[in-house]
Amino acid sequence: MTTLAKSLTKNNIRDLVPYASARRSMSGGNIWLNANESPFANEYHLDSSVLNRYPDFQPPELIKAYANYAGVQTDQVLASRGADEAIELLIRTFCEYDEQVLICPPTYGMYAISAQTCGIEVKKVPLKTDFSLDIENIKAAKNKVKVVFICAPNNPTGTLVNHEQIKQVLEIFKNTAIVAVDEAYIEYASEQTVASWIAKYDNLAVMRTLSKAFGLAGIRCGFTLANRDIIEAMSKVIPPYPISWPVAQIACQALTESGLAKMAEQKAIVLAQKERIQTALDKADYVYEQIDSASNFIMFRSQAKKALFAAFLDAGILIRDYSGQIMLDNSLRISIGSQADTDAVIAVLEAFKG
Ligand SMILES: *Cc1c(COP(=O)(O)O)cnc(C)c1O
Repeated sequence: MTTLAKSLTKNNIRDLVPYASARRSMSGGNIWLNANESPFANEYHLDSSVLNRYPDFQPPELIKAYANYAGVQTDQVLASRGADEAIELLIRTFCEYDEQVLICPPTYGMYAISAQTCGIEVKKVPLKTDFSLDIENIKAAKNKVKVVFICAPNNPTGTLVNHEQIKQVLEIFKNTAIVAVDEAYIEYASEQTVASWIAKYDNLAVMRTLSKAFGLAGIRCGFTLANRDIIEAMSKVIPPYPISWPVAQIACQALTESGLAKMAEQKAIVLAQKERIQTALDKADYVYEQIDSASNFIMFRSQAKKALFAAFLDAGILIRDYSGQIMLDNSLRISIGSQADTDAVIAVLEAFKG
């Protein structure tokens, strides 16, 4: 950055370290198991005859299809450019400049980055050692908090959040803050969704995405599920044409009966591959802990994490090193890929000598 741009940049942006997304921090490899994407690329068709026109603000067919899939009403859904945009919208819609967001690390990195780019302070209440929420400390941190982010299943640990605990958080912030439950991985633990709770808790917002189980990270399409008043408020902040025609067309096809059947089929393949990797990790004597996973990725600990990461890279496999983060000593995360990807992963695990 030139000195002029630097001196003109807002204070909260100048010192910001941008999100080290999997695609930004690529360092080789041809098997990408570092961003929890689906290994399956499905085919879609596009109708270009509409492209001279601006798209609908919220494409009705898309909203109807997602509401139907999620079991909510159409006026309880907002489509956005990925769940990432929903995170930012929640902060921009609800936080005054002197208010805060609360996060429970280790968790998804974009909550803090989005808050920082908006100039909003981030209050951190780390998870307990068993990766459950620390309800007492959340309660104690309540003052000034306007949006609470809970990731369930949590990224990067893959752990579930107990429903009783989510209820406790909703109660703690009943009249004071929005509780955003990020369900980016909910398809891998579908019985755990709290989407139906939006009818009961008027401070609950549930975030969803097509980027993970649906295999559509490339189109950038996510959703917020919440009561009509929250959706209306966020609709004032979101730009006028967030969902392009191609995105709407592809997303609608993914949400048809056959699209949903394909997602379920591919999810089952991924979950079967996950079991294979879990078994291989169990057998590896250089792995001393494997964290329970309710998602399409596995986090595990190894004293030999550095050498193991390098061994994967040598085999062309890119995984993700979380060992520098709070509570994640020696931790690596591996996303589950195709059967062939898994063969390659297991070959590395079996050949590795600690
Ligand atoms: C991947 C991910 C997102 C981002 O989803 P997009 O729809 O691709 O923006 C949000 N939250 C969590 C927890 C994620 O892992």
